[in-house]
Amino acid sequence: MYWEKDSETVPVETLKELQLKWLQETVAHAARSHFYGKRFAEAGISPADITSLEDLSRIPFTTKDDLREDWPYGFLALPKEDMVRMHSSSGTTGRATVIFHTQEDIDGWTDIVARSMYMTGMRRSDVFQNMMTYALFTGGLGFHYGAEKLGALVIPIGAGNSHRQIQLMCDFQTTVIHIIPSYALYLTTVFEDLGVDPRRDTHLKIAFLGAEPHSEHSRRRIEDFYGVSAYNSYGLSEMNGPGVAFECPAQKGMHIWEDHYIVEIIDPVTQKPVEDGEEGELVLTTLRRRGMPILRYRTKDLTRIIPGTCECGRTHRRIARITGRTDDMMIVKGVNIFPIQIERQLMEIPGVGTNFHIILDQEDYTDRMIVKVEVQKDYFTGDLKQLEALRRRIVDNLKSDILITPKVELVEPNTLPTSEGKAVRVFDKRKK
Ligand code: ADP
Ligand code: ZN
Repeated sequence: MYWEKDSETVPVETLKELQLKWLQETVAHAARSHFYGKRFAEAGISPADITSLEDLSRIPFTTKDDLREDWPYGFLALPKEDMVRMHSSSGTTGRATVIFHTQEDIDGWTDIVARSMYMTGMRRSDVFQNMMTYALFTGGLGFHYGAEKLGALVIPIGAGNSHRQIQLMCDFQTTVIHIIPSYALYLTTVFEDLGVDPRRDTHLKIAFLGAEPHSEHSRRRIEDFYGVSAYNSYGLSEMNGPGVAFECPAQKGMHIWEDHYIVEIIDPVTQKPVEDGEEGELVLTTLRRRGMPILRYRTKDLTRIIPGTCECGRTHRRIARITGRTDDMMIVKGVNIFPIQIERQLMEIPGVGTNFHIILDQEDYTDRMIVKVEVQKDYFTGDLKQLEALRRRIVDNLKSDILITPKVELVEPNTLPTSEGKAVRVFDKRKK
């Protein structure tokens, strides 16, 4: 049941002692890098000042902009010769940041990915089809190495190429897939076109969903269509990539591996810690990385700690599904809205298809939100009244959540452009 029982069920007090030891080592080590050397001097702190976990709050936050400014090698805490791998972020919000790893760093990362996969029931007898982009993106190689360490048979196909994906799944009796949730939803339409039913024609049993926010309803849709248990996988390149936090079979939040990261949740505006259980921005500190340690990294991802212990026996705390990035927030007519709110409402309504776009523009100097929604084929062939009733229902559900009335346009399946990587949902055409 456990990949490494002692680490996963470590008593909380022991974990805290270990965290302090690793934090002290990390800070002392980070001080050797150009960036933290300068930062610590400016803030008047020295590694010896860290005598308790609370002292972490004396260290200033690190942001994506810091990583971009001291680009590319300013964060290295060991000589460049010790680095064996480079990865980068997807560049969703600007210039991609790069991260370097030593062999030891890769080994540590691989181990927590293997631990995460094993936790869900994946074993060496499984056939694992990794449908994530390889190359610089961490989702491909991160999972690849983890799955090999676990001993599974890995099919490193990467992203896209839908027909081939389905063909391989059938031919090699794939049991486990790793896939972006918006792509998993899109792929359902390809399965249907080909007349392949994953429940009948494949051996799938587990799906790892990661890299972008998705709602509980999307998860359930994917589970129902593919006949799998789907597990949420959270990570970011700055903190290695996948394996930072992962769902266990209880599916009640993601365990964040506290023997590799220190977790803080702060109010993004005041930058003060929020009460346990309240939503805020996730801030992470690496504890075991040597090539490029990062302290108090502001992820911009919004989540909360789920209070209490988990039925699976793991002592590492859990975070809730990510509701979005602080950057994703749209302000429309003065109201703050996250794309996930739209997704949550849409995916709950039967008849709604697998893709949607949000367009923001202005009419008579007032903000307007248009939501284009793909709906299932038969709505366009049947009674048009049914289509109008569906449209009304979507407007009402959205309004109850986002508090403004969007213009809703229904379109046929597979007419909105999709992407192979993270879904692009919002198109803001307003004058800035
Ligand atoms: P970028 O920050 O450029 O998108 P990354 O590839 O490092 O580059 O992506 C990490 C980000 O992806 C996270 O900070 C988060 O916003 C998002 N993300 C990753 N996994 C999940 C998940 N399971 N749920 C929601 N968002 C996720
Ligand atoms: Zn658990």
